[in-house]
Amino acid sequence: MNVLRLFDPWRGPLCTCPKKYSLHPYTGCSHFCLYCYATSYLGRKPSKPKNNFISRLLSDIKKADKRIPVELSTSSDPYPPIEENLALTRRTLDILKRAGFKTLITTKGTGFTRDEGLFDALMVTVTTLDKDIYSKMEPGAPSPIKRLEAMNSVKTGKGIRVDPIIPLLNDDLGALREILRIARDYGASHVVFSTYKVKPDNFKRMVEAFPELEKEWRELYFKEGYRIGGYRYLPAKIRRKILEPLVEEATRLGMSAALCREGFQDLHRAKSCDGTHLIRER
Ligand code: SF4
Repeated sequence: MNVLRLFDPWRGPLCTCPKKYSLHPYTGCSHFCLYCYATSYLGRKPSKPKNNFISRLLSDIKKADKRIPVELSTSSDPYPPIEENLALTRRTLDILKRAGFKTLITTKGTGFTRDEGLFDALMVTVTTLDKDIYSKMEPGAPSPIKRLEAMNSVKTGKGIRVDPIIPLLNDDLGALREILRIARDYGASHVVFSTYKVKPDNFKRMVEAFPELEKEWRELYFKEGYRIGGYRYLPAKIRRKILEPLVEEATRLGMSAALCREGFQDLHRAKSCDGTHLIRER
């Protein structure tokens, strides 16, 4: 298989994702999120279509198992600005649908509204509604409210990713509850939470953008925290203190809730962490 590959969580021993294919029509990502985990493997470049992507996909789907869902995309957003003109993700979804595959979209874009009916479930990432934070932290992505409004306009199974939650930056419980409330009102039935995991390159970008937090982040991640897989994690006690009230709030609002690469199986209240169960519930 060439472009359609079984999802590999990059040495993430805590990953609870069900079996799925991962597919990236683009390489690089024009959203340029400072915390991006993919850049340490793939570099930091604007989105561009993969070479001969459609012909490679057509060859791969002949060999692939249609019972396994396909996620677009985990390390290069399927809806960067150039998608509006290129419609490469749209052509990809059309091919997959005609071939009988089920698809899950994970995005920080809004272009999926044009493709409603071509995908089976949708997860929209929202980390904060604070303009001072998102304009620095996710400089190339549409505003979080635009993402939520776009999600509101589609009828498919849908949920949100609140990922990453970064201590002292976007971890205010009241602010995160507000995101959950809006998402629920806009039809999200599932939410997955994840705390920020440090890689050397994403940490460098984060401290350049938020120098006032460097000292405390260093203390939390490098003195008190520890390494799991290729990432530095916050101490378990702090992660649990952030995540537990959020899972409770999501449950109270009637949404299923899960965690991404955190452990704490007792806090999982959903049939899948990543939203693939939304496909089956359609
Ligand atoms: S949208 Fe995802 S892949 Fe793109 S820069 Fe942001 S975190 Fe990285």
